[in-house]
Amino acid sequence: MNTSRSLARNLQDITSRLPDYKPETLTVQQAQNIMLEYIQPICSIEKLTLRQALGRVLAADIVSPIDVPAHDNSAMDGYALRSEDLSAVQELHLEIVGTAMAGSAFTGEVGRKQCVRIMTGAVLPDACDTVVPQEFTTKVSDSEITLSVGNLRVGDNRRLKGEDLATGKVAIRKGKILTPADLGLLASLGIPEVSVQRRLRVAIFSTGNELRSVGEVLEAGCVYDSNRYTLHGMLTRMGCDVLDMGVVQDHPDSLEATMHSACENADAIITSGGVSVGDADHTRQMMERLGDVAFWSIAMRPGRPMAFGKITSSGKSAYLFGLPGNPVAVMVSFYFFAKQALQQLMGATSSPPPLLSVRSNDAIRKRPGRTEYQRGILSVGEDGEPCVSITGAQGSGILRSMSEANCMIVLPHDRGPVSAGDKVRILLFDGLI
Ligand code: AMP
Ligand code: MG
Repeated sequence: MNTSRSLARNLQDITSRLPDYKPETLTVQQAQNIMLEYIQPICSIEKLTLRQALGRVLAADIVSPIDVPAHDNSAMDGYALRSEDLSAVQELHLEIVGTAMAGSAFTGEVGRKQCVRIMTGAVLPDACDTVVPQEFTTKVSDSEITLSVGNLRVGDNRRLKGEDLATGKVAIRKGKILTPADLGLLASLGIPEVSVQRRLRVAIFSTGNELRSVGEVLEAGCVYDSNRYTLHGMLTRMGCDVLDMGVVQDHPDSLEATMHSACENADAIITSGGVSVGDADHTRQMMERLGDVAFWSIAMRPGRPMAFGKITSSGKSAYLFGLPGNPVAVMVSFYFFAKQALQQLMGATSSPPPLLSVRSNDAIRKRPGRTEYQRGILSVGEDGEPCVSITGAQGSGILRSMSEANCMIVLPHDRGPVSAGDKVRILLFDGLI
């Protein structure tokens, strides 16, 4: 597709500099590093209004054109006063000389021993620098209050001009994926539209002669293709445009035609199936022939085999993620490899998501030497602390284990078995929206 990218090095350049690169026993970390080093972000910018920009990647730093807040103002409902009146006297009598509302400032003078009734967000009158909350005062009459000054300090309950953001400061950095809070922040700066990177187009297809699409008759020995649906869901949530190219039979001509078309119409291609070492099918050969593709066996479970690289057709190129066929393996490889790689491709500055440490309710079999991803259910234990249980059978074809889970338990490369009560690290599927 659109390829205004700088010339990338090929995979061989990258892997030849890694002393311990062994494609048949790569660690998760090594594979992730190679992908991130190889992928060149797209650079194709469009201007969008704020609402349209949700979830998109910011293409340039946002510099604040104004001070936020624009004036010193009150953080409380109460009375604005001059701090020089806060002497050591126990009780202070102040005359009320006016009212300041949010959006309607008090423009008169405030003299010694005078104050102004003020609402949250209202501009502080000149000479006033402190706000006493209403509940610390006693109203003597309509024009007089008393307060005890003991617990009030200079500047209390005052929000300073430019305190959130000063004019000329960077409010949001380029590369940020815009969240609801970012839209609000941009609006608070009076910015109506922003430059973002265009959406990624990602082509997906499934390979395997045993696969049938939803709506087709399921003959003996066949399975319904679920991978295109999980991939569609995960890619859509990432804000990608998905080009679904269906199930491709294991035939060189149909594979080649699909691969060319995907390459010419998408920034990235995600396939599932046909990349295992033992696979007799044509997928591997085709990928190899069309581009710069490495075939890996990654020390992980589920999801060992994976193809990664870039293929070219008619002068256009697309990154290729050849994921394994098993439905859970597809999701795990997507979340732990493709997702961050695609974020990098879309120009986002992304870092691996933080893992939380929680108690495991279950003993989990694990041997050192590979990273394992178990499906978990996080809940709050009787002691009020978070704890996680595994979702029954963990076979890499058991999609139900994924559907029931609300988190992934990540057991790192060197870890041995887990006993019930041990701490394990998890990644939650959903946070706040
Ligand atoms: P493969 O990696 O092609 O050897 O596939 C491994 C297993 O995953 C086989 O049992 C396939 O039937 C199954 N599988 C492959 N692709 C899909 C798919 N798109 N949907 C559901 N199951 C699949
Ligand atoms: Mg297959």
